[in-house]
Amino acid sequence: MPSEPGLTSRQLDAPLKKCRAGKRVELDRFDPRETFGWQKEAAKSALADEQARLAELVARLYAAEADGLMIVLQGIDAGGKGGTIRSVFAGLSPAAVNVFGFGVPSDEERAHDYLWRIHAHAPRRGTISVFDRSHYEDVLVVRVHGLVPDDVWQRRYRHIRDWERMLGDERIHVVKFLLNVSSEEQRERLQDRIDDPDERWKFRLGDLDERALWGDYQEAFQAAVRETATADAPWYVIPGDRKWARNLAVARILRHHLDQIDPQYPPAADDVEGVVVV
Ligand code: AMP
Ligand code: MG
Repeated sequence: MPSEPGLTSRQLDAPLKKCRAGKRVELDRFDPRETFGWQKEAAKSALADEQARLAELVARLYAAEADGLMIVLQGIDAGGKGGTIRSVFAGLSPAAVNVFGFGVPSDEERAHDYLWRIHAHAPRRGTISVFDRSHYEDVLVVRVHGLVPDDVWQRRYRHIRDWERMLGDERIHVVKFLLNVSSEEQRERLQDRIDDPDERWKFRLGDLDERALWGDYQEAFQAAVRETATADAPWYVIPGDRKWARNLAVARILRHHLDQIDPQYPPAADDVEGVVVV
């Protein structure tokens, strides 16, 4: 079998620019089926290379204990948040990576401000917190369903900008991914969940009601990205329909941010060079 050509670094870097979203983002300009010109097999082997690079960077991050990284994953039901976590973060030191999912707030959580439960899981320096849903639910599901009055969710964009900026100032870096799947892809994935007994546990009938609110969610996603895309806490809109392209795009962007942090192993505590252990 002829070996697949690999990706040039230029090809590999495409998502850094193409997925970055700013204050004037039009979500429907992002193609959920985008593949950045990559071929599937080449992308899969490039992902393995990226995972190895990430493992080294994360080992340094952990040793240096100087910076933390908060990764936010948002997306519609069946948008691939869980799959992205499994694919991209596999092989990284479990000591350095913690994954947190945020569902409907408990009574205890609801008794506090909406950032309280999120802040409790912000990464300690040296580690990465991966959020499967996040404080953004408080301007997404909450906005779409009118769970609080309009002025209450509207002012949250400002809180979130300010809070994420404070985190950045404290060397807790925030990087946000919106997994952008097409309506047809979501339909297929929800159907698969219903049809596969091993996947059925992920499905609730309420997911169909949420799907019916597709347009409202798109509007809410677009507003959230526009309002909170900052230089310090960027948003990336990731094409979600092809899992192999999605995984490599997220891995490459993650590596970019770890490269920028540029963590270094700390010097030895004592002058031990040349010491022989007997
Ligand atoms: P899942 O990710 O499938 O476990 O579902 C979690 C559910 O919790 C989703 O329907 C979210 O919209 C919902 N959820 C998460 N955060 C909030 C929030 N702050 N307020 C209301 N619902 C939320
Ligand atoms: Mg769900």
